[in-house]
Amino acid sequence: MRTCLIVDDSKVIRKVARHILETMQFDVAEASDGKEALDHCSGTTPDVILLDWNMPVMSGMDFLRAYRSTVELPKAKVIFCTTENGVGHIKAAIDAGADEYVMKPFDRETLEAKLQIVGCL
Ligand SMILES: [Mg+2]
Repeated sequence: MRTCLIVDDSKVIRKVARHILETMQFDVAEASDGKEALDHCSGTTPDVILLDWNMPVMSGMDFLRAYRSTVELPKAKVIFCTTENGVGHIKAAIDAGADEYVMKPFDRETLEAKLQIVGCL
């Protein structure tokens, strides 16, 4: 079974994303900030990480930098989630090692397309 780690400080967004991903047969785990996500990734390797930008404790960008620079961590595909207001962040995220991005709020079709692009569907 393919695995996805959803990293978002919004419980509602995690719930919506989990529902969508489970209908695509993903085994889903959740983290509410970058720190929790790093802890999760030190124990297991998700196939794909859905990563929010703005989070308390550790932002998506700080997570991404830490994750990509830790050689021992196996490399999951990272889809970075942003809002209309955050489009300026896309280049920075890709430069920091994100594989793709998706605009929030996203629907099933959009997420499915992005997962296909990164080779996780
Ligand atoms: Mg957020």
